[in-house]
Amino acid sequence: MKAIKVIKPFEVTIEDVEKPVISQSDEVIIKVTSGGICGSDVGIWNGSNSLATYPRLIGHEFGGIVESVGCSVTKVKPGDKVAVDPVISCGHCYACRIGRHNVCSSLEVMGVHCDGGFSEYVKAPEKNIHVFHTDFD
Ligand SMILES: [Zn+2]
Ligand SMILES: [Zn+2]
Repeated sequence: MKAIKVIKPFEVTIEDVEKPVISQSDEVIIKVTSGGICGSDVGIWNGSNSLATYPRLIGHEFGGIVESVGCSVTKVKPGDKVAVDPVISCGHCYACRIGRHNVCSSLEVMGVHCDGGFSEYVKAPEKNIHVFHTDFD
């Protein structure tokens, strides 16, 4: 599949990379249909984002259609239109236990610390998926 990779500051490419596969039972594979370019992406591009590591498949604001789900996933099914919370948290540190997963002690943001959503397919945990419920599509 194709994905947008920042190899190092000021060097961006579209590369063929392995399509993600489900390796944990709570994972969801999404066919990405939309994405937003954030100021943080500009910082990753120009090297001013101190959190980013390179090379990096970028994209932390994105959504799409669920393609497949792991065997323990119950709230999301193939065909669902979804948005993805890119903040991957541990779920059991102090911050996570008091509901502040955005400051998890081992936090990773998709597209910043780990690979993100500016690619044809992306994988995320079920707890990070938000399903759109609309009457107009
Ligand atoms: Zn952002
Ligand atoms: Zn945590």
